[in-house]
Amino acid sequence: MNKKEMLDRFSNLEKRFVELQDDFGVLKTNLVQMIEENHQLAHENHHLRQRLEDLTDKQDPTGDQSPSDNSKASTVGEGYDNLARIYEEGFHICHVYFGTPREEEDCIFCLKFFG
Ligand SMILES: [Zn+2]
Repeated sequence: MNKKEMLDRFSNLEKRFVELQDDFGVLKTNLVQMIEENHQLAHENHHLRQRLEDLTDKQDPTGDQSPSDNSKASTVGEGYDNLARIYEEGFHICHVYFGTPREEEDCIFCLKFFG
């Protein structure tokens, strides 16, 4: 290998090295973004799980419903409890006056929900 060849190969390697450095830079930026995003999502997930636990605790004192339990029965039960609470707080839950203030008296349409 003569000097010209060696210099050519050397500058070629140098060029590839610079390109590799650029690639590494881009990858590193992406990696940092991914880590930050992952951290953010884990954080958010943690908060949402806690929120879900709080809600589940309030609606189900026995606490035997796992958050992953998405059966229809539990959803209906939670919905029913929610409606009962809204009614207790003084709002209509019937389809006739839904969401409007109930004043003091009971509503016959609402009471149908409680059988
Ligand atoms: Zn009503």
